[in-house]
Amino acid sequence: MDALAEAVSTLSRELALVCAADGTITWADARAAALLGLTLGEPLEALAPEDQRPKLRTFLAQAAAGAAGVGSEAWELNLCVKDRPTCFAFRACRLGKEEHGAGHSVLLVGSLVPEDYAHVLEQVNENLSELATLHRQSERQQRELSRRADELLRLNAELAESNQGVRSLHAALDEKAETLQRTAEVKSRVVANVSHEFRTPLHSILGLAKLLLNPSNGSLSQEQEKQVQFIRNSAESLYELVNDLLDLSKAESGKAVLRPRRFQLSEHLSALRGMMRPLLPEGSPVELRVVLPSGEQELELETDEAKLSQVLRNLVSNAAKFTEAGSISVSAERAERDVVLFHVRDTGIGIAPEHHERIFEEFSQVENPLQGKVKGTGLGLALARKLAEVLGGTLTVQSAVGAGSTFTLAIPRVHPEVAEMAGLSERAAKLDPTRAPVLVLEDDRQTLFLYEKYLQRSGFQVVPVRTVDDARAAMQRIRPAAIVLDVMLEGETSWGFLAELKQGESTRDIPVLVVTITDREQKARALGADEFWLKPVEGKKLLSKLSALARVGPVDKVLIIDDDEVHRYLLRQVLRGTPYVLMEAATGPEGVRLAREEAPQLIFLDFVLGEHTAFDVLDDLKADPRTRDIPVILHTSHQLAEHEHARLAKETAAILSKHTLSKEVAIGRIRDALNKAGLGPQQQPPHTSGDREPSRG
Ligand code: ADP
Repeated sequence: MDALAEAVSTLSRELALVCAADGTITWADARAAALLGLTLGEPLEALAPEDQRPKLRTFLAQAAAGAAGVGSEAWELNLCVKDRPTCFAFRACRLGKEEHGAGHSVLLVGSLVPEDYAHVLEQVNENLSELATLHRQSERQQRELSRRADELLRLNAELAESNQGVRSLHAALDEKAETLQRTAEVKSRVVANVSHEFRTPLHSILGLAKLLLNPSNGSLSQEQEKQVQFIRNSAESLYELVNDLLDLSKAESGKAVLRPRRFQLSEHLSALRGMMRPLLPEGSPVELRVVLPSGEQELELETDEAKLSQVLRNLVSNAAKFTEAGSISVSAERAERDVVLFHVRDTGIGIAPEHHERIFEEFSQVENPLQGKVKGTGLGLALARKLAEVLGGTLTVQSAVGAGSTFTLAIPRVHPEVAEMAGLSERAAKLDPTRAPVLVLEDDRQTLFLYEKYLQRSGFQVVPVRTVDDARAAMQRIRPAAIVLDVMLEGETSWGFLAELKQGESTRDIPVLVVTITDREQKARALGADEFWLKPVEGKKLLSKLSALARVGPVDKVLIIDDDEVHRYLLRQVLRGTPYVLMEAATGPEGVRLAREEAPQLIFLDFVLGEHTAFDVLDDLKADPRTRDIPVILHTSHQLAEHEHARLAKETAAILSKHTLSKEVAIGRIRDALNKAGLGPQQQPPHTSGDREPSRG
């Protein structure tokens, strides 16, 4: 074999062999012989791995049954090459002549399938089966997902339904609460009015009875005297009832005025002992013991002493009514969290547990043998409990029939509102120069706190006052951006104050928002109110109204003349959220024009403006009577020469360095400048020379 033939044989992947009908190899070409290491006469099957043999047999049988000389499809079959199964693509074709009736021989031509191809095929196979598994999995997941989506849709629908339900429930509840609130208010108002009306004729009856009983006004017959005594006693009972009702309605409507003051516990208790002594005089079968604290136990309280006394008196007088013999003791002790506990113990008839809550209800009395003998309205404990709440505490009872009773009043040593109020007034006294003050005249502390909360993070600062006098005093100190006015105050109205404000030359421009519980819009408007609202006030609404109102008045317009866009931007940011309206000019002439047309209250002027300087602008401004008096704050990063500084100090209200720009400084200077020009609110401290700030360094 020449070299070429050898080379071809090395590269060729083909081999050929012939099998007899029984599958034995009858002929093989040299490559087949060499590659497979076969021996003629051995069955081809012997060369195939066990698992391939049926396939090989089928292939041979099909080829033998086919038409002579027609090539079959290619089959992939494994044969062992040096004991390693190797894949061949075989095509076969029947040979024409039959061998002695033993069937046809078959020619097989095989092509060696490259190993990598086989490997790739295997890989593809593997991947395919993996893909199939994945596909099955993803199908399963898809089904699960769609099931969940359905579930979600259903849940969503259910949720929407429940939401709807909750919302309508809320609306219904809101409505109910409102109705209840209104009813309670009406009730309180009616009770308060009626009680007031009762007191006048009762005064007359009592006075007349006293007059009749006075022997110097002529004597009565014994019978008449007895009758007048009855009238007097009944009138006194009625008077007490009316007073209780009045107190109760006040406490209920939150109108009870808290008058906190500082006092010593021992002094309070000894005063109580003095007041209660006539109830249980010497020799009475019931002894009154008031345990006075001494030394370490002494306490200083800061709360409404009168209300505390009213509660304790009520408890002691009840104890006296329902104790026939034994003792009544009053004591006090300090408990955790700065709470003071007052105990009123008696050795009286006691109260069955099922009545422990009922006795605190209005007009409720417990059936007992003593009830008929004593005076009472069933209002005492209801009032005492309400007062305890007003004091920020609770009133409870421990008792059993026949075992006496102990009433315990627990109140904070310092009334919570004392501390809160102190904080509020303190904060209001310290005016924040970055916020516009809003004077709020409101006698209800809670509402004041609410206003403060509403305006907490706004450009407004609440200056709280609780009486008209306080409001007048505050007006001496500040010029608010707006005023919120409650009309119905404790013991006074603020109609007069509103009229004063709106008639005053210097105050009529301050917007006033009247907020009250009764619809007196016409009157409020007639007196000059800028807005009228019924209580309660909503935070968002208040803020947007105040912002709008504060703009209606004579708003301070501030003009910025600066050729540097970034500096204008910075100044704008610094003055954001303040009540000033800003205008901007990028050149000197533009600034002068705006100053003439818009008449700003103040100008921020940069020193270097392109080809102009602040002096050019100042000259132009001074030359025109319309702009001559507008205060100018020089705002510059330019290092001023001595003579420049001297001249500017004369012609401007302040010189401000851009390096030290901050909200506080800017607003402080604006207010100073406005005050100096007689334009601004008076709340700023007087301008001092130290306020001038050269821009060096
Ligand atoms: P009243 O004007 O009838 O005393 P109160 O509200 O003060 O009204 O008390 C309600 C009821 O509670 C009393 O009528 C009485 O039945 C019961 N009660 C109050 N204090 C005592 C007490 N210390 N011992 C027994 N019963 C009491």
